[in-house]
Amino acid sequence: MRIFIAGLATETNTFSPIPTGWSGFKEQRVWFRNDGSRQPPVAGNVPLITWRRLAEADGHEVVESLCTFAQPAGTTLRHVYEGLRDMLLDDLRRAGPIDVVLLFMHGAMVAHGYDDCEGDTLAHVREVVGPQAKIGIELDLHCHLTELMRRSADAIITYKEYPHIDMAERAAELYALCTRAARGEVTPVTAYHDCRMISMWRTPQEPMRSFVERMQLLEGKDGILSISFGHGFPWGDVEEVGAKMVVIADGDRLKAEALAKRLGDEIWAMREATSTRHDTIDEGIDRSLSGQGGPVVLADVADNAGGGAPSDNTAILARLVDRGVKDAVIGCFWDPQAVAFCVEAGEGATFPLRIGGKCGPSSGDPVDLMVTVRRLDPDFTQTGLSGGRASFGPSAWVSADGIDIVLVSRRQQTFAPDAFTGLGISLADKALVVVKSTQHFHAAFAPVAREIRYVAAPGAIPPDYANIPFSKRTRPYWPRVTDPFAPTNALQEPAA
Ligand SMILES: [Zn+2]
Repeated sequence: MRIFIAGLATETNTFSPIPTGWSGFKEQRVWFRNDGSRQPPVAGNVPLITWRRLAEADGHEVVESLCTFAQPAGTTLRHVYEGLRDMLLDDLRRAGPIDVVLLFMHGAMVAHGYDDCEGDTLAHVREVVGPQAKIGIELDLHCHLTELMRRSADAIITYKEYPHIDMAERAAELYALCTRAARGEVTPVTAYHDCRMISMWRTPQEPMRSFVERMQLLEGKDGILSISFGHGFPWGDVEEVGAKMVVIADGDRLKAEALAKRLGDEIWAMREATSTRHDTIDEGIDRSLSGQGGPVVLADVADNAGGGAPSDNTAILARLVDRGVKDAVIGCFWDPQAVAFCVEAGEGATFPLRIGGKCGPSSGDPVDLMVTVRRLDPDFTQTGLSGGRASFGPSAWVSADGIDIVLVSRRQQTFAPDAFTGLGISLADKALVVVKSTQHFHAAFAPVAREIRYVAAPGAIPPDYANIPFSKRTRPYWPRVTDPFAPTNALQEPAA
């Protein structure tokens, strides 16, 4: 069998002020032309590593194209998306006859002129390989599952876990399903169920933990080949945004549709229990200051670089300063200019520094502080999601009035405590630690936290799902309306 593999991914926050261009896709440790599967694991190449390993073990021939995963940001430039897609298609045409195509894409990539980059890529791939070849795609669960994707691919599998710890397992399942289909052993047919919901679901916590396990128990028996819950990515202004269940059955569309609806109904029934309670900034600070025994970790969810936010919003920092809070640490601010000023001033220098608030209205106003530069690192890293080192580039630890602040030059969410301790900041003696992340920080920070709280501060990805200013989604959804399944034809106006 001849198997073609490629990765082309980013998650687009269409409300983010940061354009996604060539530099995002061609960053060091992000861009691989034909050998991504032969490199050490970074998030973007994990599926390709899995596919090559399995295919070679089975004696198949692997043809590999590009592999790249740009840090989530704003809408991708049109010529950049078209350039990347055409590179992949050129490789595919040159490859000659192919039995199976396995793609790793995010599922929420938007480019100027393309609301559905994954569907567009899949449709072009289908044109090249013809109707007989099997096409499978692995997606992040924060995806927009579109009809064009469903029609163009034989199999769509999303991660089941958030945090995304199961990229390799899902890749292996996609490989098995597509190679079985190529041998004629199964006939995958895919059904969606639109849950009519826009929210976030945290899978380590109940009742989602049990739901994930229930999905897995149903797979591989009674003609059910695969089940995915596409949580959706709320901050994409596209028509098909929202949560969907995906069921792939063996040749039986009605069976797939029935199970997708049944599981979608379960998600609907759990909607209140799975919703995250968010504190206001002051509630989060108050919580941290009352009680002892290690820091409270406050997640600044609205400024998560992993959702395309700039990571330079100052709302929580400004409030800490206004309230005179001591024993606090906050990071990581994406502010290369401030880092450059710190490098110029040098370790030990005390000088007035303007921090954050630089990218756009969602960043808030900059905060001016008299800071002392405590530590500089020309190539600072933290532990990434896949366990490797994730680069912040030149970075600085500055302190002002009892608040320690980490400033970095490469935009990235805060994954692990060594984003602070790696510069010499101790966490155990702090009252609160503010991390710019939505969920991926959770596993590594839980052991050092007295408690973890989610804070709804202003930012580019506010967790206010009822009021995201969509211009393209026309179907009603919860929580904007109480019952999106009630007969109605138009999206109702948000409540005042
Ligand atoms: Zn995701």
